[in-house]
Amino acid sequence: MGTLDSYIVSLLGATGDNVSYQWHVGDDFFSAVGGTEIQEGSLDVTLRVRETSGAYALDFSFEGTVRIPCDRCLEPMDQPIAASRSLRVKLGDEYADDGDLITVPRTEPTLNVAWNLYELIALEIPLRHVHPQAQCSAWSASSEEEATEDASPREDSDETPTDSRWNALKKLINNK
Ligand SMILES: [Zn+2]
Repeated sequence: MGTLDSYIVSLLGATGDNVSYQWHVGDDFFSAVGGTEIQEGSLDVTLRVRETSGAYALDFSFEGTVRIPCDRCLEPMDQPIAASRSLRVKLGDEYADDGDLITVPRTEPTLNVAWNLYELIALEIPLRHVHPQAQCSAWSASSEEEATEDASPREDSDETPTDSRWNALKKLINNK
């Protein structure tokens, strides 16, 4: 987990002056975190730590792209991501993550924010994400599908014998 050590944020250092961190997260970050949704990406991240009435606000802002499978063709696509999201952290007896509020032990007032950051980025992926039409390999396939549906043959029991007889006749003519 050494690669994620740089994501350890010290809360005590935030007392008084505001503290900020900057990271560039790339493929090595996503593979070290080990999330299923995003395995590759490239984003610039800024974190500002503010002390707010006995707790801390961790203000993340991040911008870049993540590489995820296209909904339509399942091939990788680059999804642009840009957002600002905050986490609230307080000191307490032991570590706890209630979603909205993270408690960090008073005896060790640091937090590795790598997973939290990953989750915040993953939350920004739109529900439906697809390639632009020209780059998506499923577009031509899906339009072909529609065309076949339109031309779905209507089997008419009366027509088939007529056709085969007509074809037989044509064959006869052509053979002459
Ligand atoms: Zn696609």
